[in-house]
Amino acid sequence: MTNEEKLYNSGVLTEKRPGAILPPRELWEKKKNGLVIIECPQEIPCNPCYSSCPTGAILPFEKIIHTPKIDYSKCIGCALCVASCPGLACFVVDLTYGSEEEALMKLPYELLPVPEKGEEVDCLSRIGEIVAKGKVVEVTEPRKDRTKVVHVVVPRELVDDIRAIRVVK
Ligand code: SF4
Ligand code: SF4
Repeated sequence: MTNEEKLYNSGVLTEKRPGAILPPRELWEKKKNGLVIIECPQEIPCNPCYSSCPTGAILPFEKIIHTPKIDYSKCIGCALCVASCPGLACFVVDLTYGSEEEALMKLPYELLPVPEKGEEVDCLSRIGEIVAKGKVVEVTEPRKDRTKVVHVVVPRELVDDIRAIRVVK
């Protein structure tokens, strides 16, 4: 089996498996606090993204196995879905943060050690390759269940590539 096929079978988005739900660019550029991206193309019986969303931005699932749909006019970038998704498939990206070269990503994190505010971390692609360095500006635990949401300042040009972080100790 090729690497591409292994990734495809594991549900990771590849060139063969488009399926990211992305915000409309014009709205995304202006929306303070950011908007959600969801990368969940497989039909599985799961909907915590929907049930955790306080604004109704994630639309009701007609069937539990359906994939999420988003009303971006209702997303407030709160990242509750980021903390709730068992597949770590939700991310918030704030394109209004910092300078023109920067953006803020709110990423799910379930490993130890937990990164600390001010720490520099490796930013990883979907397949775990280091693509940049990022700076942690906040770590929250919205559901108090050990799933953290790490707020990381990253190079803006890489928000489509960065999907995880790794602590460098
Ligand atoms: S970021 Fe908040 S408002 Fe937006 S979809 Fe997720 S839970 Fe809903
Ligand atoms: S909670 Fe996560 S894995 Fe489950 S349907 Fe929503 S995005 Fe997909």
